[in-house]
Amino acid sequence: MITCDICKARPAQFLQHHAKRRVCKTCFENDILSRVKDTIKRFNMISEGDKVLVAVSGGKDSLTLLDILANLMDNNKIVALSIVEGISGYNREEDVALVRHITRMHGIDHLVVTLKDIIGYGVDDFMHAQQKLKVRSPLSACTFCGIARRRVMNSIAREIGATKIATGHNLDDEVQTYIINILRGDIVRLIQSHPLSAPHAPSLIKRIKPLRYVYEYETTIYAYIKGFHFQDTECPYINQRPTLRAKIRSMLIEIESKAPGTLLNLITYLDTVIEPLVLKYQKESITLPQCTKCGEPTSPKRTVCKFCTLVDLILQASRVGKDG
Ligand code: SF4
Ligand code: ZN
Repeated sequence: MITCDICKARPAQFLQHHAKRRVCKTCFENDILSRVKDTIKRFNMISEGDKVLVAVSGGKDSLTLLDILANLMDNNKIVALSIVEGISGYNREEDVALVRHITRMHGIDHLVVTLKDIIGYGVDDFMHAQQKLKVRSPLSACTFCGIARRRVMNSIAREIGATKIATGHNLDDEVQTYIINILRGDIVRLIQSHPLSAPHAPSLIKRIKPLRYVYEYETTIYAYIKGFHFQDTECPYINQRPTLRAKIRSMLIEIESKAPGTLLNLITYLDTVIEPLVLKYQKESITLPQCTKCGEPTSPKRTVCKFCTLVDLILQASRVGKDG
């Protein structure tokens, strides 16, 4: 029997490539919990008095996040949020049931909302609108989905008095985001993707990513250990995900397989070198303009926010055939 490299007693069950060690179930779980705890502390992600809205899609990352936070903090300070995007053929009922199973187990409040209920339209509505208008270079479903979900998360967080929004982005996701912003030379987004950056408007609730030091393969193992039968139905729009991210993802997987631990070293390094920039930028903090349509903060130089522009497209499409 191969014994665990940490406790030297129980049988080893999993290989942690990046740390070059074999670990038992208990030591694996403890390691993940303590890494998340350290990450929360290092970046002051959750303080006393914070109420955290956890966005839970039903995938392995968000289920892992919910379970870990439930183990680390007062469960009365957590609210889980499931957002149904309005994508036909994408079964959300099972996902919601799974989230409910976990929230019940921990006694956590669980909100389920649909994009349609909150903003009036789902992802399919947006895609149909573009088809109807015969838009020459249509935007991807993921563009609308991402913007709409962020808008809904923020407004629900405000409504329930949540002070933080937690998402299940893992180490792999976060390194990809850093690389994309570096390749684009987008210094503003690079700084914004640092865990210490603050939102640029009081109405924007700070988003936190407590799994940023946990590899994707580790969230898969964690979900497996816990018996979370996470959703395996793929979104029919999956191929519309940004191609640059997909390319960077496969490049990073290859690098990591040749030199395990590279991604963890890279994020640790980037978090450290970007930190002074975040602090400097914070001092010269900018005030974002307000969207003239919805009143929410928008990017500098914009008068109408991206969300309102997308919704406008749906409204235009609904007028086609009615006018005249
Ligand atoms: Fe939304 Fe795109 Fe993910 Fe589908 S693949 S759920 S459209 S972000
Ligand atoms: Zn707007």
